[in-house]
Amino acid sequence: MSKELRDGREVLDLLGVGFGPSNLALAIAVSEHNSAVPERERLRARFLERQECFGWHRGMLIDDATMQVSFLKDLVTLRNPASDFSFLAYLHEQGRLVDFVNHKTLFPLRVEFHDYFRWAADRVSHLVSYGTEVTAVRPVVEGGRVAHFEVSTRDGAVHAARNLVVATGLVPSLPEGMSVSDRVWHNSDLLHKVDSVSRASRFVVVGAGQSAAETTAMLHERFAEAEVCAVFSRYGYSPSDDSPFANRVFDPAAVDEFHGAPQDVRDQLLAYHANTNYSVVDIELIEDLYRRHYREKVIGEQRLRILNASRVAEVAETDDGVRVTVESLTTGRHTVLHADVVVCATGYRPGDVTTLLGEAATMLRRDEAGRPLVARDYRLLTESDADAAVYVQGGATEHSHGITSSLLSNNAVRSQEILDSVLGRTASTQSGRNGAEIADAYSGSAEAHPVVGVGVGTGAPGGGGLRHVG
Ligand SMILES: Cc1cc2nc3c(=O)[nH]c(=O)nc-3n(C[C@H](O)[C@H](O)[C@H](O)COP(=O)(O)OP(=O)(O)OC[C@H]3O[C@@H](n4cnc5c(N)ncnc54)[C@H](O)[C@@H]3O)c2cc1C
Repeated sequence: MSKELRDGREVLDLLGVGFGPSNLALAIAVSEHNSAVPERERLRARFLERQECFGWHRGMLIDDATMQVSFLKDLVTLRNPASDFSFLAYLHEQGRLVDFVNHKTLFPLRVEFHDYFRWAADRVSHLVSYGTEVTAVRPVVEGGRVAHFEVSTRDGAVHAARNLVVATGLVPSLPEGMSVSDRVWHNSDLLHKVDSVSRASRFVVVGAGQSAAETTAMLHERFAEAEVCAVFSRYGYSPSDDSPFANRVFDPAAVDEFHGAPQDVRDQLLAYHANTNYSVVDIELIEDLYRRHYREKVIGEQRLRILNASRVAEVAETDDGVRVTVESLTTGRHTVLHADVVVCATGYRPGDVTTLLGEAATMLRRDEAGRPLVARDYRLLTESDADAAVYVQGGATEHSHGITSSLLSNNAVRSQEILDSVLGRTASTQSGRNGAEIADAYSGSAEAHPVVGVGVGTGAPGGGGLRHVG
């Protein structure tokens, strides 16, 4: 699309905030679009990432951990099976395609998928500024409409863009009253911190989800002298449901149905299928942990201890460790554990988009629970007239787009949907308010992708009227 300068500053068509897999998939979609169209139809896009280089959950790149999503749900395949950004294209380039096929698995190692992401990110690096943290967003109003946003970064730079795509990921969450320290970690820092421990006699791992089970297994294996106490409120680790019918909840079509449903039905579906992702563990890992636990029982050396149906009642740091008081939920009995380190594998919460948006957040329309209203094309709906728009990718749209929001499963298709919407709106803005025909050519349907404005005529359902799996 055409370059536009205001006050000497270029107004981008699209600015991505955060460069994890969500915006990486979008950057690839933009790049493929730009190389297929004439210059005047190209999008001017840029992505800002606070990390110094690409990194996806580096603190949990445990050697033998595998993906919980089929490699076919990579960055591109469900959108464009012919793309050379696919996991298979990566394998081919690495000379491992045949070896991978012989492996007969849909679930690559996490370290391998990380390397695939890095490989793909390197190929679109011309679109990314690393080491660039977005600190503030300001709407710029012209003629009574929000024309674009000014986006400030920690290094003092200011960028201007008509469309923002915020994909800043999840924020580690700790039990109430606990905070991270040298001896109290969140599992997201596991590999960053574990090397600082040369000897340990006891670890406490809090939580019963996939990350908790992986952390427990890893510490148990790595510290052969240490006791590892797993504390969780469930009776036992529970398997994730990745059976075929349940797995359909991650399908692109499921997003349509979910978004079109009333909120009480959406909430019900989220509750029914929480066990596809939340507080659940791969069955192989559960069996592995059980095998270890039983073996130690047989040989009379119980290093892996399961404190089930329990909660952490108190944590107090001492001169040489942490005193953890664990309360049994069934008996109320307290067990005091002196540990070297406590690892909280207690999940994540979506980052608060509205904090990042600052002043711009006051324009947002919200549902009865105070959550931002999000159109089908992932745009935040606003009260004010606007040519500019904010799109959101990630867990912040779980209430509107379903359980797949925070996961990788829908990345490729979602990128296309956002790209189509941005292209449609950009074309219509450039050709004036009568640009609907151009916009429709991109969006396929004027109703699905309204041509003008964040706050007007959102024909999208629910918009106008108001584990790692997949
Ligand atoms: C250990 C682990 C394993 C997982 N495995 C799977 C799996 O196998 N399958 C699956 O479907 N899902 C999995 N998930 C779920 C996970 O949420 C997604 O894989 C994925 O990370 C979502 O991508 P994202 O780009 O939306 O967010 P993220 O990957 O979190 O990326 C967000 C990026 O935004 C950057 N950022 C944040 N704030 C700013 C700012 N203000 N300015 C600039 N940059 C910023 C961050 O540095 C980060 O790089 C896993 C999650 C974890 C924790």
